[in-house]
Amino acid sequence: MATTNGAVENGQPDRKAPALPRPVRNLEVQFTKTLETMDTGKPFLHAFFIDLEGCIKTLRYFAGWADKIQGRTIPTDDNVVCFTRHEPIGVCGAITPWNFPLLMLVWKLAPALCCGNTVVLKPAEQTPLTALYLGSLIKEVGFPPGVVNIVPGFGPTVGAAISSHPHINKIAFTGSTEVGKLVKEAASHSNLKRVTLELGGKNPCIVCADADLSLAVECAHQGVFFNQGQCCTAASRVFVEEQVYDEFVRRSVEYAKKRPVGDPFDVRTEQGPQIDQKQFDKILDLIESGKKEGAKLECGGSAMEDRGLFIKPTVFSEVTDTMRIAKEEIFGPVQPILKFKNIEEVIKRANSLEYGLTAAVFTKNLDKALKLASALESGTVWINCYNAIYAQAPFGGFKMSGNGRELGEYALAEYTEVKTVTIKLDDKDS
Ligand code: ADP
Repeated sequence: MATTNGAVENGQPDRKAPALPRPVRNLEVQFTKTLETMDTGKPFLHAFFIDLEGCIKTLRYFAGWADKIQGRTIPTDDNVVCFTRHEPIGVCGAITPWNFPLLMLVWKLAPALCCGNTVVLKPAEQTPLTALYLGSLIKEVGFPPGVVNIVPGFGPTVGAAISSHPHINKIAFTGSTEVGKLVKEAASHSNLKRVTLELGGKNPCIVCADADLSLAVECAHQGVFFNQGQCCTAASRVFVEEQVYDEFVRRSVEYAKKRPVGDPFDVRTEQGPQIDQKQFDKILDLIESGKKEGAKLECGGSAMEDRGLFIKPTVFSEVTDTMRIAKEEIFGPVQPILKFKNIEEVIKRANSLEYGLTAAVFTKNLDKALKLASALESGTVWINCYNAIYAQAPFGGFKMSGNGRELGEYALAEYTEVKTVTIKLDDKDS
């Protein structure tokens, strides 16, 4: 998808992107970009065009809010002046995951700072490098000591200490639903700190028979395989209307077989290794479950024989709702494709899980698009696009995909306390 002005563009690498990054603005940017690829194994161009540019756009967007955090004057039926102040919450904790290490950190840091808070950040233990480098830049540009504190460490120790700390007034967490529950529990057992959670997803991607099929195939492909499949937004339940099902599967398999997998520093690469052995084993286990439970393996289905943590882009057809690959978050390069007969049925099936992060719809029919947009239980619905994430637009989940919103003006409410000030006027003089 082409980059729109101001877009975070977090999802689909622009297929028309030049073979080499455009002139790098300065050495720091170059170094940060390289660090993210070294740390995560994500392709070099994705780290540059998507992660790093997303960070810059988010920082610019929230920098614009810094002098616009204002309250309201409220009319009442009494002789008072009543107004609100939007005050900083104080010390805000942030715990981030390994799939978009710098981007997820910036999604929390930027709104926290523009609202006048201080921050204690814990990057994921697998990927601390860009956070630490950002810390050195923050020091270099002269932030007062203590405003941004970066504390690398493991979840059950450092993460738990932040979640339960009595002097941290708010926590923003991105990660698994399981750990999200622990964070909320620790917050409630300590000082009832405010909690925002961005958790897992098992996101329906609905392709209607009247869709632009080429667009739908490409978006569904990028939607599930982007970032080695390690996205909470992954299009990991693709529902295709029966009339176009076979053709959709055929074209999706063609795409998957052609996906360049390999060295993340090769600019042609679109898929690098999985993050670690634990995730790699989990994905292979889910692939085996798909085979055993009767899904049809169309391509892939195993690790790359000659390499470490690389997994072949995998497509399953004839997937049914009760299979593990249709219910569990895979977080890997696996595309499960399901069939549907009509809109009422697909709405019910799409909404049947406890997750509700994102959904996508492909159709040329506006009425159908709007009906689905209102019926789907998810924080985001993309129509004829995928991973269209913008610094200006809120992002977050329904149901067990999270609490609260990041990005956009909505995020400001998560980083401020509203104080109501009421001044009684003297009745005698009025
Ligand atoms: P994943 O399963 O994808 O690794 P996690 O939810 O385990 O995702 O990790 C996301 C972030 O949560 C990481 O920074 C991790 O260190 C942190 N974390 C893990 N366990 C805890 C915990 N008990 N309390 C607070 N943070 C934790």
